[in-house]
Parts: sequence; structure tokens; C-alpha cells
Amino acid sequence: MSESSKPNLPGESASVEVELAALRNALVLLGLKQCVWCRKYLRFAEPGALFDVGELVCYSCSLDWWKNKCPQLAENERAAMEHKLVHWLIYQHHAKVIRPAGKGAETAPTDAPHLVASCIECLGKGKDTGGGHCSHCIGLGIIWVIPTEKLRPAHT
Ligand SMILES: [Zn+2]
Ligand SMILES: [Zn+2]
Repeated sequence: MSESSKPNLPGESASVEVELAALRNALVLLGLKQCVWCRKYLRFAEPGALFDVGELVCYSCSLDWWKNKCPQLAENERAAMEHKLVHWLIYQHHAKVIRPAGKGAETAPTDAPHLVASCIECLGKGKDTGGGHCSHCIGLGIIWVIPTEKLRPAHT
């Protein structure tokens, strides 16, 4: 039997693509949008469902996505996005904030998945408006944001 390759079936693959495009359109009409990371569709209007910074990412993926995103961003862009993400995690998803407790407290106080973020009071400067140490982060400029709601296990 000869190894004659099967001709492509353009009609068949096109119809699958057309079908998918139609489905995607229908999902968008229903108010569902896709997480860039896990590709799941979630209800966009639902508060906290998707974090929106030009791309959309769901809560489960947010830490994973952020770790991957960080190195691709310029410093000022990263700071602005981190600020939004931290607020979103705290106000929409009840993430816990742990502040540095004392000198030598630079290491994360937990093994749980977390985000090391610039202090939300001094924006990472470590100083208050009077030039003294920021009392929120005791001058270290960082806080830890610890999700309390269940996250999808990280990619390995
Ligand atoms: Zn996701
Ligand atoms: Zn601070």
C-alpha cells in the first residue's frame, strides 16, 4: 500500500473554525470572557471574576500569571499593575496583608502562595510624607499579600 498522504480537507477544518468562532461570539454575547491563563470563560460583570489590565485573568490564575508577567514589564508599568492587582486581591478576594513585624523581617512569613508587593501606604519608598519611616511597613517598603480563597495549584 502506498504512503500517499491524505489530501487536506479544507472544508472540514474550516467548518470547525467557523463553529468555534460562532461559539466564542455567543459566549461574549452572554457576557462571558476568557482568562488569558487557563482559557476558561467567566462572567465578566461579576465583581472580582476577572482582573482586567488590558488582558483578563481569573482569580485562580492571578498569582501564576503575575509571576510570569512581572519580568516582561518595565518598572513603572509593573508598579502600577501590581498596585491594581494588590487592591483587587484585597478588596475582591479578601487577601490578607502581612506587614513586616520588625527588623530582619524581610523574608516572607509564610510558605503559602503569596505576592511580595510594594507597601500600599508608602508605595514601596519606605518613608512617610514627613520623611520618617513608613509605619505601615516599618520602612522596608514591602508587604506580603496572601490569598485566603482557594487558588488553582501552580504550574510546575
Ligand atoms: Zn484563569
Ligand atoms: Zn510603607
